[in-house]
Amino acid sequence: MVIVIKNNATEKEISNIIAHLEDEGFKTHRSDGEQRSIIGAIGVKTNFDTRKIKMLDGVADVYRVTAPFKLASRSFKEDNSTIKIKDTIIGGNNISIIAGPCSIESEKQIFHLAKVVAESGVKILRGGAFKPRSSPYSFQGLGIEGLKLIRKAADEFGLLVITEVLQINQIDDVCKYADIIQLGARNMQNFALLKEVGKANKPVMLKRGLSATIEEWLMSAEYILSGGNEDVFLCERGIRTFENYTRNTFDLSAIPVVHERSHLPVFADPSHAVGLRDKIPPMARAAVAAGADGIMIEIHHEPEKALSDGPQALLPEQFSYLMSEMRLIASAIGRSI
Ligand code: PEP
Ligand code: MN
Repeated sequence: MVIVIKNNATEKEISNIIAHLEDEGFKTHRSDGEQRSIIGAIGVKTNFDTRKIKMLDGVADVYRVTAPFKLASRSFKEDNSTIKIKDTIIGGNNISIIAGPCSIESEKQIFHLAKVVAESGVKILRGGAFKPRSSPYSFQGLGIEGLKLIRKAADEFGLLVITEVLQINQIDDVCKYADIIQLGARNMQNFALLKEVGKANKPVMLKRGLSATIEEWLMSAEYILSGGNEDVFLCERGIRTFENYTRNTFDLSAIPVVHERSHLPVFADPSHAVGLRDKIPPMARAAVAAGADGIMIEIHHEPEKALSDGPQALLPEQFSYLMSEMRLIASAIGRSI
C-alpha cells in the first residue's frame, strides 16, 4: 500500500499516519520526494480497509499495490493456466466454444441440439437443468431429469457437459452428470456456494455478477481457488449499466484486463451480454479478437418455442456460419478453434 502525503501536511500529521500504520501491523517506509512525501506500508492484509488511512489528516491518497486476490493473480502465477478435461484443454492457444440451449427442455430438443453442436466441431454442450429465473412463475428447469438428458445426449455425440448449479444441495448431482460446473451471474457472490464448489473435483466456470467489478469477480474466483479447486475459468456475460437497448452491456475490455491481472482463462458469453439474436455474432467475433479463451453461445432450432431466452438463441445455421467467422479471426491472431 502506498500513502501519498498532502503537500501541506505537517510533521506531526505524518508521524501520526506512520503510528497508525504501525499500530495496524504494517512496516513503514517513508520517502520524501521533491514534490511530495510517500509512505510505503508493507504487509497489506487482504481485507484491510484503506479508508481507515485515507481519513487521517495529511493523507492525499492511498493506493493498494498488492491485489486482494492472491491465488487468482498474475503475480502468483505468471503463466496462463490451462484446464484439461478429458481430451479438451481450456485456455492456452486453443479457443474453446460452448454451445447449446439456455434450458434443457426435452429429450428430443437436447438431442437435436447436441447433434448441431457436434457437427459444428464444438466439444462442450451447455444447457440449464436448474434455472435462475427472474420470475418464480417462469420455467425453472427440468432438474435432475434434465441433468440425465443432457448427459445422455452429450455421450451420444462425444461432448462434454457444462450446467449451472444454483444451490449447495445440487452440487453432488451436477458433479455426477456434468464435466464442468457453471456458477451463474446471480450466484457470483453466494459465498457459501463458492466455498462448496471450491471443494468439488470438477472444473468451475465462474460468470461475472450482474453488477460486479472485475476485482469482486476475481475475489469470488479466489474463494473457489482457496477451497482447493484450482480448475477455475471466468466468463464475462455483460454487466448492468444505464443502457437498455441491449439486455446488458458487454464489457469487452474485461477480457484484456483480466488477462493482465490474472492467469485464469477468460471466456465471453455474448448471448446473455447482448440478449438480441442479430447482435450476438458481431460481439462473439469481437470477443475472439479481444483475446477470449472461449465463447459461450445459446442456440435453439425452434427459438419461438424455447422455454427460456428464445430471443437470443442463434439458429443452427447462424451458429455454424458464426463458427466459420470465429475460426478465421482466431487464425488471424495465431489461435485456433
Ligand atoms: C446461463 O448461462 O444460463 C445464465 C443464466 O447466465 P447468467 O448467469 O450469465 O445470467
Ligand atoms: Mn440463457
